[in-house]
Amino acid sequence: MKTRKSMLGIVAAYISVSTLPVNAQSSGDDQYEEPIIFCWPKDSGELTGFTGSRVMDPQKAQQFRGSTTFNAVTLLDNGPSQSHVDLVFVGDGYTEDELDRFRNEVDFAIEKLFNAEPFKSYKSLFNIHRIDVVSNESGVDNDPTFGIEKDTALDMGFWCNGIPRALCSDTLVTRAIAESYFEADQIIAIGNSSTRGGAASTGQNVAHASGTLSTMADVMIHELGHTLGQLADEYSTGGPADYPGIDPHQINVTILELDDMMDQETKWSNWVGESFPGFDGLVGSWEGARYSQFGIYRPSINSRMRSSYRNFNMPSVEKLVMQFHIPFDGIASPTIFEFNEFEGHDTNIPVVYNHPTWQDLTVVWKLDQEPIGDGAMNEFRACEYQLQPGRHLVTIAAVDETPWVRDQWQIEQLLTFHRHWWIDIETYPSDANADGQINYFDISFYINAFTSSDPAADLAEPKGVFDVQDVLMFVDRFADSCGS
Ligand SMILES: [Zn+2]
Repeated sequence: MKTRKSMLGIVAAYISVSTLPVNAQSSGDDQYEEPIIFCWPKDSGELTGFTGSRVMDPQKAQQFRGSTTFNAVTLLDNGPSQSHVDLVFVGDGYTEDELDRFRNEVDFAIEKLFNAEPFKSYKSLFNIHRIDVVSNESGVDNDPTFGIEKDTALDMGFWCNGIPRALCSDTLVTRAIAESYFEADQIIAIGNSSTRGGAASTGQNVAHASGTLSTMADVMIHELGHTLGQLADEYSTGGPADYPGIDPHQINVTILELDDMMDQETKWSNWVGESFPGFDGLVGSWEGARYSQFGIYRPSINSRMRSSYRNFNMPSVEKLVMQFHIPFDGIASPTIFEFNEFEGHDTNIPVVYNHPTWQDLTVVWKLDQEPIGDGAMNEFRACEYQLQPGRHLVTIAAVDETPWVRDQWQIEQLLTFHRHWWIDIETYPSDANADGQINYFDISFYINAFTSSDPAADLAEPKGVFDVQDVLMFVDRFADSCGS
């Protein structure tokens, strides 16, 4: 086997194996301004809130970097962090004596998360970690009333940016702690509180929820819709009656009327008229979304991005599933970094797949552009294919054929996993004359090649010498090309 790595493969790996983005912004000088969605459930279960930003001092987070004084555990390990979505739970306002309750609350949140689609069908794409952050005092700031101050590790509190139900942490400290222990694609910060509240830091990918509230998991999943799914709120309160802006970048809201959206084949045009069991709503176009009543539309009457206790609608499910696949690699081994050039009839390439919880990937193998084997094939054995002298290309394409993603470009980019290998063959296979049959004519062909010193007839070491060893090797290969 050759040991040269393919530069193309390495470059492709850097492009395709990426972590979920952390959208850091600098407000200049030594301050950090992060985008954040203040968002919480009302008594009725409807959600309300709006988007804004917060300015923080990055210096404070420095002292937490690299610190590993807290107990930290991995609760769900599905594989390497670089090819999975890593969720890290941290708590704030829990004293040492309250950590057992925090652990129970995290267990409850995980159970609820993986009972909710599309997380349930994609559980195998996630790793889950928990850090038992210990605070000096119990509870969080301004809880239950404004003015109460608590000395806690993540400085979590209500009245974030002057909004009573906005529950935020110092997200730079939160991320610094999480990253000291784990790769943290997404962080879930649980406050020791039974007050309704929440917020999603889309700058640091931190979802906030109150831990001792029975609705905690529901809030958490909604906030993950913002941070992991990059989804907009679909409720129509909290902002001006008429939507004032340009078309938002989020896929689940638009200022386009239905006909225009369909004509432009944008946003959720792939889903209009569809209704999937287990998901929210017949997909169409309803006015009122993203904090305004008029001039902006949402895909379904109700959904998890509009109210508590609902499911996601299909456009949101599609976006979430695509986001899950950003770090995911459906081929666990060989990795995209491993050698992709081989030599000889004895080349074997075993393949190990990762796959979603709901179903195996659909796999297509090709040899020199022609399909081979069946989808379940997990090893390529060159000896089975009578490869003639020359260079051969073996490719594999493994795709997640979920009905929940319809965007063809994204299916190719995110939901399909590729590998390719080159195999150099210098000597004749048992089907020496390449007529598709192994018979007397191959022996005759080989003897002719041998007597005319055709380099491809020089099967045995040392190279350049034509002797009985070459003939014996051909007879061996003739009897059983795989030597089994
Ligand atoms: Zn929200």
